[in-house]
Amino acid sequence: MMKYLSMKRVSSFTLLFWILLLSTSLLFTFNAQAARLAIVIDDVGYSVNEENKILQMPVAVSIAILPNSPHGRKMAEKAHQQGREILIHLPMVPLSKQPLEKNTLHPDMSREEIDRIILDAIQKVPHAVGMNNHMGSAMTSNLSGMEKVMQVLSHHHIYFLDSVTIGNTQVTKAAMGTSVSVIRRNIFLDNIQTEAETRHQLNRAIALARKQGSAIAIGHPHTTTIRALQQTLTTLPGDIELVTPSMLLSPVPTNKNGQQTAHQCIKPRAPESVPATQLDYLKMVGRALANNAIVNILNQHIQKLLGNASKQEALNSLGKTEVNQTTENKTAGKTKSQQKDDKTDAHKTKDACSNF
Ligand SMILES: [Zn+2]
Repeated sequence: MMKYLSMKRVSSFTLLFWILLLSTSLLFTFNAQAARLAIVIDDVGYSVNEENKILQMPVAVSIAILPNSPHGRKMAEKAHQQGREILIHLPMVPLSKQPLEKNTLHPDMSREEIDRIILDAIQKVPHAVGMNNHMGSAMTSNLSGMEKVMQVLSHHHIYFLDSVTIGNTQVTKAAMGTSVSVIRRNIFLDNIQTEAETRHQLNRAIALARKQGSAIAIGHPHTTTIRALQQTLTTLPGDIELVTPSMLLSPVPTNKNGQQTAHQCIKPRAPESVPATQLDYLKMVGRALANNAIVNILNQHIQKLLGNASKQEALNSLGKTEVNQTTENKTAGKTKSQQKDDKTDAHKTKDACSNF
């Protein structure tokens, strides 16, 4: 009887071993479909020292250049040589009284005037494939104003990234019926200018990318933003793929010449500890697969096979009890933090919008 039980246990271990191996490959397959994160740095063209640090970041980090800034053209040329994606950061009038850039778009401007300003911006920011709004709560919430912008853009094969500086933005509606592709900003990285806050917002962007498949974050060339980005981007989780905004538009984004303009940069995974024994390996894989539904179902079947008497012993051998506890803790923690993030997101969007 004991011999029979022992044989049954050994064969169950072998079965579990192969299941874990199979699930590991499945896990890597799922990981191939990484969550995509696009980061755009706005207001480029004024502070060369800070902006040069941005140009040292992974090439997928894109820049949005103010057309009438003193160093805009130079930064565009530099970024283009690196293969970095460039957007025109077009000034649009806000609801609040603020100092305005030259050629700031206003809803009352004629189509011809808007055409002239956009053409001028295209010439001043060479190689741009996209455009986003600098400020613009008054302009982007005005449908007829934005329709004029979209009509002009449809002749230039330039996509529009809505910075979403106001809740009732009309950008998407205005682009309907035109050939202009529109994407929307999800997270502002530096409404509060501290390293900790920007790191927090980056983590929110990562969580959102995992939840939705992709996310777009916008930051500015502040010292705190640059430091937080430098830290976070070197330790980006393995399942997060840094992409350009144009990669989120369509499967094969192209520029005016029909060439692929999208760039991607997959950060290396953090080094993992090497298992000393087969049992350590099983424990490690077990922990990695703690959230894998297939493994959990198969484990239940194995537990039935082993019977009540040997089940606890087998689980303890594999560190399964520990795995289960870790899973529950992780799941509970994740749910709470996601709920918190969702609430914060709605709250922050409101705050962000009211500032522009
Ligand atoms: Zn701006």
